[in-house]
Amino acid sequence: MSGKGYVYKNEPLIFELSAPGRRAYSLPALDVPASDLAEVLPEDQLRREPAALPEVSEVDVVRHFTRLSQRNHGVDLGFYPLGSCTMKYNPKVNEVVANLDGFTGVHPLTPEELVQGALQLMYEMQGYLAEIGGVDEVSLQPAAGAHGEFTGVSIIRAYLEDRGEGHRHKIIIPDSAHGTNPATAVVAGCRTVEVKSDERGGVDLESLKAVVDEDVVCLMLTNPNTLGLFDENIHEIAEIVHEAGGLLYYDGANLNATMGYARPGDAGFDVVHFNLHKTFATPHGGGGPGSGPVGVKKELADFLPVPVVRKTGDRYFLDYSVPKTIGRVKSFHGNFGVVVKAYAYIRSMGPDGLKRVSEDAVLNANFLMRKLARDYHLTYDRICKHEFVVSGVRQKERYGVKTLDIAKRLLDYDFHAPTVYFPLIVPEALMVEPTETESRETLEAFAEAMAAIAREAAEDPDKVTGAPHTTFVKRLDEARAVRQPDVAFKGDLEEK
Ligand SMILES: *Cc1c(COP(=O)(O)O)cnc(C)c1O
Repeated sequence: MSGKGYVYKNEPLIFELSAPGRRAYSLPALDVPASDLAEVLPEDQLRREPAALPEVSEVDVVRHFTRLSQRNHGVDLGFYPLGSCTMKYNPKVNEVVANLDGFTGVHPLTPEELVQGALQLMYEMQGYLAEIGGVDEVSLQPAAGAHGEFTGVSIIRAYLEDRGEGHRHKIIIPDSAHGTNPATAVVAGCRTVEVKSDERGGVDLESLKAVVDEDVVCLMLTNPNTLGLFDENIHEIAEIVHEAGGLLYYDGANLNATMGYARPGDAGFDVVHFNLHKTFATPHGGGGPGSGPVGVKKELADFLPVPVVRKTGDRYFLDYSVPKTIGRVKSFHGNFGVVVKAYAYIRSMGPDGLKRVSEDAVLNANFLMRKLARDYHLTYDRICKHEFVVSGVRQKERYGVKTLDIAKRLLDYDFHAPTVYFPLIVPEALMVEPTETESRETLEAFAEAMAAIAREAAEDPDKVTGAPHTTFVKRLDEARAVRQPDVAFKGDLEEK
């Protein structure tokens, strides 16, 4: 809702353009007998007054919707450095592939022998993700990252139960974790225990040792974590948790820092989820469907949700005979269209291309971090991975300009704001993820805008605290906008 787009001076509202009889379509003359709706529809469902719709021409409709589409900032319009969310540009060719009739027209109940191509794609996708994550088997069913987490933790609990360790109820989560991790733990019927970060931003080993015991289900970890920092102690962390009989869960929502270089499975993780709608060609956010496949090491493969796609000879089939399956976690076979896009992306990039993604994501983030560190406080001053966190504490303490103000002011400079006030352990946090798809020029322009805002904070703080000045709508009541979204354009919008 924060987009700037183009505000036209004499912007006509579509209702004002309405003139009786004006049409945006023409239909051929009726060549069958007309029927009277009053005869076929029940009385109480008949409309008494005509709908209050504008009568407009095609060009009016096209301009109306084109204008509306540009009022929202989107990744197709500009830079969108939303940390943790990976709002990167994704090649449109993946959308074209996912839109092929053979994929969009296929019904999930079609007999297997008629959908061998779709099953082959799913089978190969399971294999690619297993290879990328360093795990043995993958389920494509979960519909999002949080759903993948729930599926993964359910698998771990079923596995522990099977070994006679169903009493375990403690899930350890670092204080830098994404909010979905503790939420998952609680929904899966567990108790969360927080572990502190050390001064380098990694898991504090002594705190970890202090909370690990025979009640531990697993440690949920993101590496690189939400500070964008890679935890070099990962092998030692894995050892500490495994020694206590717990497992390691990898939150792999953002893999675009490590693909081709490091695999969670090799680092000791037992279960991994992937966000196809972040790393693999579907943007996060925007309300569209997601996909959060979950991968496991072979000791846990008997617990995967059913069905899993398998192959005998040349034939692909849906295998429901997973012996100790946790059951289904999603109707049919997950969000297939998102899987197709990710498949097209992985195939077109190839192993070297995915490696290059990691290199560029890390290079871009470090380049930008160094530039922003001139004006903003950098809590953890070390090489980052795909994202980094700076803080607006300086601007707040000296000039009363808060991180939220800086974020709003960025909109006037045509940039989407970074993620703000997260992770929670950094006060006035600005979490920036430039992604691999941005050019040096874009990164420099963003850095210049951030530098300009830092200057404004010092010289003219009201300009920043009163931002945004140029957007179509100003500061929204964000909590209310989420709870009571008003998405219908009724022509009564006033400049706010
Ligand atoms: C986005 C994200 C998630 C959750 O993914 P959703 O698809 O939004 O449920 C979990 N962990 C991390 C680190 C993330 O960035």
